[in-house]
Amino acid sequence: MKWSINAGSIFGIKLRIHLTFFLLLLFVFAQVSSEYGVRAGVMSVLFICAVFACVVIHEVGHSLIARRFGKEAKSITLLPIGGVAAIDQMPVKSGQEIAVSLIGPLINLVIAGFLYILFGAKTGVSLPNLYPQSAQAFLAGLIGVNIMLAVFNLIPAFPMDGGRVLRGLLALKMDYVQATIWAANIGQAIAVFFIFFGMFFNFWLALIGIFLYLGAGSEKQQVILQSLLAEVPASEAMTTQYSTLKPDNSLVEALERFGRGCQQDFPVIDDSGLQGILTRDRILAAIHTKGLNVPVCEVMDKTFAIVSSRMGLDQVYRIFLSGNKTAVAVMDEGQLKGIIGLDGISRYFMVKAALKGVDAAGLVAQMKNKMIAN
Ligand SMILES: [Zn+2]
Repeated sequence: MKWSINAGSIFGIKLRIHLTFFLLLLFVFAQVSSEYGVRAGVMSVLFICAVFACVVIHEVGHSLIARRFGKEAKSITLLPIGGVAAIDQMPVKSGQEIAVSLIGPLINLVIAGFLYILFGAKTGVSLPNLYPQSAQAFLAGLIGVNIMLAVFNLIPAFPMDGGRVLRGLLALKMDYVQATIWAANIGQAIAVFFIFFGMFFNFWLALIGIFLYLGAGSEKQQVILQSLLAEVPASEAMTTQYSTLKPDNSLVEALERFGRGCQQDFPVIDDSGLQGILTRDRILAAIHTKGLNVPVCEVMDKTFAIVSSRMGLDQVYRIFLSGNKTAVAVMDEGQLKGIIGLDGISRYFMVKAALKGVDAAGLVAQMKNKMIAN
């Protein structure tokens, strides 16, 4: 995610903090300390940090369970409105998705229970107060926050945890794509309610509503997109007529061919076979940084991905998303069969979507945005 900084890692999962999170701390500190003094401001900041530590444990829970099911958990990003765990593909199996989603709220309940057993007799439980005036109030508020986090996250507003549980349950009865559409529509309806209610009573709720609304729409489109792509083998979207470059060709030659033809990505081949892929983005970026006289081998992508012509396009798309690639080589038994670029997929997809009567333009725009965001 842009505008976030590294803050170490937990169980091999990168922890990132969005810069707006620091703005939140600064804002609260300024507000509380101007009213009650610096000590109170520090207490408030500590309280927010304690709440977000609980949010991190919640997200780590999601990530570790997802990892048990073989899904890669890459990072956790802290935002002012909560935490986001980037899990490479949520589990498609219902039981797994339900387990991954339920663990987060469950962890908050466990934290609340644990704190209550240790300190509850003295502190009790209270609604969180942004300015806790004593250690007791601090702990009572922290217990309260964890109960609220558990309850709030279980609201079936996809893509919140409760909404994912709902999709998991629906998917027991119907097709995964249908279940997602249902869950996302219900999520968007609840999000509209959050926005409306929040505008009058609680600014954060309105903000969360906006994020939920957009998140549900985006996940719905992603799932439709992937289901359409899954039906198509890589061979259907690959370019089979292409010109190739040699590793010692200069960038000028690549640029000339790029400018003349309609080819975006070039396989770079020598006597021992495919050595790399020179993509449009690499050509254009290198002109500025390296000049025109460097050999192609200094610019090409040497860690290119190879797929078989029978692989589903959804998996190719996943390689684009997770590997930061814009082109892959299609090879069968060591023989180069073609190249698939981002444009190849979107072109093929537009045809496919049009045939199915789905809004293709919106989905393709979304596909490209998603890739740029990554
Ligand atoms: Zn969660």
